[in-house]
Amino acid sequence: MATHTPIRTCIACGTKSDKRSLLRVVRGADGSVCVDASGKAAGRGAYVCKNAKCFEAARKKRTFESKLRVKISAAAYDRLEEEFSTVCAESANTCSRDGE
Ligand SMILES: [Zn+2]
Repeated sequence: MATHTPIRTCIACGTKSDKRSLLRVVRGADGSVCVDASGKAAGRGAYVCKNAKCFEAARKKRTFESKLRVKISAAAYDRLEEEFSTVCAESANTCSRDGE
């Protein structure tokens, strides 16, 4: 039980995966939305695969907005997308190493 990893669902494709394979996007107290690289930030969160396709799909369908119950402007999305790809690139390195 000590090694149990919480399972989360990608809001774009519906894939269930352990928390570490998904990326958390969180809505802060001020209504701004950002990528939660630590997975520990307070606030309403939504999970998406570490995959640009899923991010794009969630953006197009406005899934982030309905899940996080917040309006996200195009500029905020662009910033979010940039954070997302940065975190994806960073975790891709670490994940492939400790994945086995
Ligand atoms: Zn997905």
